[in-house]
Amino acid sequence: MKYVDEYRDPHAARRLIDEIRKTATRRWTLMEVCGGQTHGLLRHGIDAELEGVVELIHGPGCPVCVTPLDAIDLAIDLSLRDRVVLTSFGDMLRVPGSRRTLLDAQARGGNVRPVYSPLDAVQIAKGLPDHEIVFLAVGFETTAPATALAVRQADREGIGNFSMILSHVRVQPAMESIMRYPDSRIQAFLAAGHVCTVMGYESYESFVEAYGVPVVVAGFEPLDLLEAILACVRQLETGAARLENHYARSARREGNPAAQDVVREVYEVCDQTWRGLGTIPSGGLRLRDAWKRFDARVRFAVGASEAKDESDTCRAAEILAGRMKPTSCPAFGSTCSPDSPLGTPMVSAEGACAAYFRYRPPSAAS
Ligand code: SF4
Repeated sequence: MKYVDEYRDPHAARRLIDEIRKTATRRWTLMEVCGGQTHGLLRHGIDAELEGVVELIHGPGCPVCVTPLDAIDLAIDLSLRDRVVLTSFGDMLRVPGSRRTLLDAQARGGNVRPVYSPLDAVQIAKGLPDHEIVFLAVGFETTAPATALAVRQADREGIGNFSMILSHVRVQPAMESIMRYPDSRIQAFLAAGHVCTVMGYESYESFVEAYGVPVVVAGFEPLDLLEAILACVRQLETGAARLENHYARSARREGNPAAQDVVREVYEVCDQTWRGLGTIPSGGLRLRDAWKRFDARVRFAVGASEAKDESDTCRAAEILAGRMKPTSCPAFGSTCSPDSPLGTPMVSAEGACAAYFRYRPPSAAS
């Protein structure tokens, strides 16, 4: 465990915290756009250590949380049809659509199977040629290469009974959207290290230039996060706005060209509905025309769906936009908990509400 321990050294962490406190002459507001980073910040108490110096706002960094209602509803509908098997990652089974979850559909006789990878879904399709196998594909740019490979494999093996409901989202357009909010308070961003590992971080140059805010590529361990926060604070204190990479052991400027090639071959950029945030221009990926036969909406001739409203109780939209902390939601820990979630940020292991429930439980907060 030396490799991980290196980035969890408590003495080095203390030195970085002291340095951040010494450097900051005022309170700065930073946003991380990755659920893994949100959990890391809370799990290691970094937010509490930096209270009064740095406010950490949690962005829409959980792909499960931002999957739109109509994608879940379609998955539920298809799972209840004869000779259709609906597959997805385990987390997705508990995410509420407009009325119910995939688990509810399973209880009503729907054929729903959790899988670890989209390639598992292709294998199921191979083994069940008289069924239609649908994979509900969600995730940031990090998971898009795997779903693109699944499509290519199905094509190569002539598997005609595999398709996907696609909800791949792109992080940078969401950051741009948040910066355009009239009430945006974000002064710097921690960019998601794993996304940059795949997609590179060169495109953030234009973001920094357009919005005049520092962007620092960050990892997930305590020292990764603290170093990135310190880099942000140093820039902010001098009025600078630059792109820096503090996750050099994994992320390179050009990213992973092979992964980008397969994503480009199979997908094209499109406007995308993000649950809670609305339509984000260029905020997602869709199958190119040459691969459209793998689109479940095409295969099942599903028309455009109407926008649906979220529950009145859940404040997920404000949580995902960074306008509210989970602990400020009246339902947090009372009517909403991981065992009985009212909204996606409490369902997903990467959701901000689940992170607060785990690391700042209501009994500790009161
Ligand atoms: S605590 Fe529950 S109800 Fe409140 S915003 Fe989070 S998921 Fe929604």
